[in-house]
Amino acid sequence: MDETPFGDDTLHEECGVFGIFQRTDAAAVVTLGLHALQHRGQEAAGIVAHDGTQFHVERHAGLIGDTFTKASVLERLPGESAIGHTRYATTGGGGLRNVQPFFAELSAGGFAVAHNGNITNALTVQRELQRRGSIFSSTSDTETILHLVATSGARLFVDKLIDAMSRLEGAFSLVGLSANSMIGVRDPLGIRPLVLGDLEGSPILASETCALDIIGATHVRDIEAGEMVVISESGIESIFPFQTRRPRFCIFEYVYFARPDSNIEGRNVYDIRKKIGMELARESHPEADIVVPVPDSGVPAAIGYAQEANLPFELGIIRNHYVGRTFIQPTDSIRHMGVKLKHNANRKMIEGKRVVLVDDSIVRGTTSQKIVQMVREAGASEVHMRIASPPTSASCFYGVDTPEKAKLLASRMTIDEMAEFIQVDSLAFLSIDGLYRACGETGRHKVAPQFCDACFTGDYPTSLTDQDGADNVRQLSLLGGAG
Ligand code: AMP
Repeated sequence: MDETPFGDDTLHEECGVFGIFQRTDAAAVVTLGLHALQHRGQEAAGIVAHDGTQFHVERHAGLIGDTFTKASVLERLPGESAIGHTRYATTGGGGLRNVQPFFAELSAGGFAVAHNGNITNALTVQRELQRRGSIFSSTSDTETILHLVATSGARLFVDKLIDAMSRLEGAFSLVGLSANSMIGVRDPLGIRPLVLGDLEGSPILASETCALDIIGATHVRDIEAGEMVVISESGIESIFPFQTRRPRFCIFEYVYFARPDSNIEGRNVYDIRKKIGMELARESHPEADIVVPVPDSGVPAAIGYAQEANLPFELGIIRNHYVGRTFIQPTDSIRHMGVKLKHNANRKMIEGKRVVLVDDSIVRGTTSQKIVQMVREAGASEVHMRIASPPTSASCFYGVDTPEKAKLLASRMTIDEMAEFIQVDSLAFLSIDGLYRACGETGRHKVAPQFCDACFTGDYPTSLTDQDGADNVRQLSLLGGAG
């Protein structure tokens, strides 16, 4: 039996970052921002604040609301600038030493960093640094950034950071805090989101706009792919230190990961998900009586599907909100049980009906199998599953939590075999062009795709050095880092 949801003994992460510069109650504002980013990571969180003289660091396992409470946060984390991080890890392995932000006293002064994404050559760089004497205290790829900054020969701090980031490949949206500046960096492809906000004159950096809404801050703009912003007393400086590349934002953020009320790169996530449902209905619409979402992730697409197919939308499955995401359960048997704990069929709506069941994605197929069985037991006469994304056939190496390729249902089965496996009358996935159309494109450009869609196409937009090296068979994040 698997020891973890993904069948290995390692950590997988997705994360949220938030920082505010020059605001009296900085750590409390960060706490609220992280609360809105809790969906990006529920396992642990940390905040680093600077009070003009020194840095204060606090990290905990668990949910923000349980571990950082407003009154005591300000006592323990005084200061006018603070950054924070929410971390998703499916096992507790590695413990607090891998919880971000990381902080180090460097020759250039104290520096804290919080990172969302995954650095695909971190393990290779780490080994090189270790051979030259660096000592690592975590197994996180994020620590590599600190070591590269520490060992850079550049004179100015910002140049040291540019030097460090230029050595790294993969996805990074990060927020850094030094004694006199807050810095945001987005990798040259802009794979993970990062936005600039403003709260009554105090600049904010956050993974998603929902973290600005919670505190009534305004969304100034998205940080651009390959951009570094240096926020200091003298204002906000924008630099483009990397070689320019055509951006490729992660399309799976629109499908599943980002919060529906966030706006990313001019698109509202809920609106995209509804359009995804509409595309799905246009591509494949079986004779049916009702459209039922798998809550919550399937809801917006099911609304769009029902509208387009002119069928009633019904909450035929009710979700219990007091259970964490299915993937967080630590063992296979509990994961199965988790699905039952989390969802219940609403027999009154389903009995005798031909049901179109809509979910955002099939990863291992465990959720779909259980849900379909539940809907059948509640008396559905037919179950037609429609998936609001193409088949997930390749692992993500850029910070989204996916099992290894062999564990992905779509990597080892045809669509007919998958339909048989989850016991549905029919199964269809959205086409890759349909997904691009929902995002406002005419389709996927074959030569220069507009998004990172590696989980659906296997087309990785960066090199995967840690995967390619003969002895580096795993990404460092799988050993406990990233986010
Ligand atoms: P599975 O049982 O493995 O097929 O799980 C599929 C379900 O997990 C989908 O309905 C998604 O809502 C959800 N899901 C997809 N990707 C992820 C992810 N990276 N982390 C957590 N949940 C996910």
